[in-house]
Amino acid sequence: MPIDATQPYDDANIFARILRGEIPARTVYEDAHALAFHDINPQAPHHVLVIPKGRYVSWDDFSSRANDAEIAGFVRAVGAVARAAGLVESGYRLLANTGRDAHQEVPHLHVHIFAGRPLGPMLA
Ligand code: C5P
Repeated sequence: MPIDATQPYDDANIFARILRGEIPARTVYEDAHALAFHDINPQAPHHVLVIPKGRYVSWDDFSSRANDAEIAGFVRAVGAVARAAGLVESGYRLLANTGRDAHQEVPHLHVHIFAGRPLGPMLA
């Protein structure tokens, strides 16, 4: 079910549980600001999610409430994950579904990184 991007943060959400180490994830990157792991239902040969460590429901919540260090750290982490996977030359797509119409399902901000094949024109 899609979530409401304006809802309060729910500490029981699945990505909060991954951050706390309560459930496993195939982690590919971690630093002070972000964690990245393989999506359990990949939509491309390379499909990784990058999440901030702070308690942010959505892109809107993060971009309005996070401090500059958190924002810079998260943006740099997304780039670092893509570079570490060797995706820069072939290219990759970033996606942050936000709220109901975008069909955001997990109420903790996540940026999808899709790569590994020609992805075609932008989906809308
Ligand atoms: O952007 P949206 O909220 O729709 O995407 C959620 C993503 O989280 C899905 O791609 C889903 O496969 C992934 N997921 C995951 N591990 C979980 C639960 C969901 O990788 N335990």
